[in-house]
Amino acid sequence: KKIRVAVLYGGRSGEHEVSLQSAASVIRYLDKEKYEIIPIGIDKTGRWHLSGPEVLASTTKALPIYRNMPEVVMPSNPDALSTGVVALASGASTPTTFNGKFDVVFPVMHGTFSEDGTIQGLLELADVPYVGCGVLASAVGMDKDIAKRVMRDAGLQVVPWVTVRNGEWARNPSALEARIAKELGFPCFVKPANAGSSVGVHKVKTADALAAAINDALRYDTKILVEKAISVREIELSVLENIQLSEEPLVSVVGEVTPTHEFYSYEAKYLDENGAALHIPALLTPTQMKTAQDIARCVFTALECEGLARVDLFLDKESGEFYVNEINTLPGFTSISMYPKLWEASGISYADLLSKLVDLALARHTRKS
Ligand code: ADP
Ligand code: MG
Ligand code: MG
Repeated sequence: KKIRVAVLYGGRSGEHEVSLQSAASVIRYLDKEKYEIIPIGIDKTGRWHLSGPEVLASTTKALPIYRNMPEVVMPSNPDALSTGVVALASGASTPTTFNGKFDVVFPVMHGTFSEDGTIQGLLELADVPYVGCGVLASAVGMDKDIAKRVMRDAGLQVVPWVTVRNGEWARNPSALEARIAKELGFPCFVKPANAGSSVGVHKVKTADALAAAINDALRYDTKILVEKAISVREIELSVLENIQLSEEPLVSVVGEVTPTHEFYSYEAKYLDENGAALHIPALLTPTQMKTAQDIARCVFTALECEGLARVDLFLDKESGEFYVNEINTLPGFTSISMYPKLWEASGISYADLLSKLVDLALARHTRKS
């Protein structure tokens, strides 16, 4: 009997469009011999639909970088599971009715209301196995301010930052501006605490541009980070939980992203087809590779991750030191995305990676129940 995998995608975040692309790849490559796929889309208003990503995609404009992606042919779903899903989304379902509809959920969503522990909490309540990090790691990993504090506590190097809350900014902007200028200087980076895909991220070169950047970042979150800007090489690693829990998490070969823009902005990531070059493996010495892999493993463990995560490091061009930039607990998942690409280069194909993730989800559920 096939394992029924519900692929959850879309959602009410700034990364909705990215999720549609990721989900299209996941649905395309999940092994049809082993799995029956049930695509469930959440539109931008938060409504749930039993349909493939191309349906929601028709309501948004395609991201140029994925223009050449192969078409996805969706399986049809004659015996609609709408009762369970819709009831669940509206809060009326009992966990059992929901549970009977599929065996495991693969959330292929990015950002708020998906990567941040909210979906994970819903699935815990419904007692459904799901792929990836649990509530805690998802929530902590999503909040760059909290994640950095936990990583710093684990002895990892993070770039110096100042946290700004909207109330504080509204009360006394000049005091905050003075503090930022003194503690961090310019250039600096301004970013929402909870976001991704570089949405709301600004590089600020001079003091007079700071307020506008902070005001913009505050459109996406009530808390933002201002970070010292460092001249960086951007290093990314994929981590996978070890099915043998007693063993260390698995870490992929090291990758590097070289944006052709001033930084790795939303434009560089998704709008400009030549916005960035991926190097796999990164051009690092064996010692640097090992250091990067040790850091990635440490981040995964420090943040209590399960399933998967992509750990993004900065290699300071001046000092040669590594800093942990951030963790992404549901990283971009198209077949051309860094997370699966790094595994491919490490000997795990995209389809095998998906199977491993489903296996890990089922194993965790068995372990915990
Ligand atoms: P997101 O979760 O949206 O990807 P990041 O914190 O990774 O947010 O920031 C996006 C990009 O902005 C990074 O990939 C990098 O190019 C640039 N950036 C962010 N912070 C810094 C920093 N402190 N110094 C240099 N570049 C930075
Ligand atoms: Mg991110
Ligand atoms: Mg990032």
